[in-house]
Amino acid sequence: MNTEVNLHPSSELLNQFIQGELATGRSVVISAHVELCKTCSEKTKELQALAVSSWVDPDSSESSIRKTAGDYSAMIQNIVKEEQIKTEQLPELVTASLGLLDSSISLPRVLAKAAAKGLVWKKVAGGISEAQLPLDNETQCGFIYMAPGCQVPVHTHEGSETTLVLDGSFEDELGKYRAFDFIIRDQNHQHQPISKEGCLCFAVLDSPLTFTSGLARLMNPINRYRFRKAISKYA
Ligand SMILES: [Zn+2]
Repeated sequence: MNTEVNLHPSSELLNQFIQGELATGRSVVISAHVELCKTCSEKTKELQALAVSSWVDPDSSESSIRKTAGDYSAMIQNIVKEEQIKTEQLPELVTASLGLLDSSISLPRVLAKAAAKGLVWKKVAGGISEAQLPLDNETQCGFIYMAPGCQVPVHTHEGSETTLVLDGSFEDELGKYRAFDFIIRDQNHQHQPISKEGCLCFAVLDSPLTFTSGLARLMNPINRYRFRKAISKYA
């Protein structure tokens, strides 16, 4: 468990995750981060406790929840216990079967389970490979591998791009991202990811990427086509 994760989902997003309000792809990427991040794992349990207490007593204020938190501890322990029972049944690792990597990579169970069904890697461009994982009919989800030294063309988004770094690192104009960081980029961001050491990520897009410079712009119709194809695979 890595305790030095820098970038986390917001409390609002964690709450939407707990309440089951997100498309499967976004739930999976958040669940994977929560499994890897001690901070978010603890925060999620606290938010679950608050959610459970508000289901039990919709009028409860935060102060009364704090006062009566002990009353719910048994209920929370049951929730946690159920999670453990479920996750113990899942494979713990997906290793070199990811195909492109020399070393073994340990994946969060939720991704290992999905990946165990088989990944098909396709080269996208310039050292970037992708193995799509259809999870719902709203988002394009998959593993992205960036070979050392490669970069994605400058792009922006019509919707949002959620990225979880699983191994290695990459950087863009806004920062450097390491293992287990959780990054959201949207129409307010134009960026060019570059990976010096190589990087394996899991990414969830709710709209196609839009390349904004040079010849890469010629790929925009292909990006739109691939997005439509990806979300139609789940239907
Ligand atoms: Zn976190």
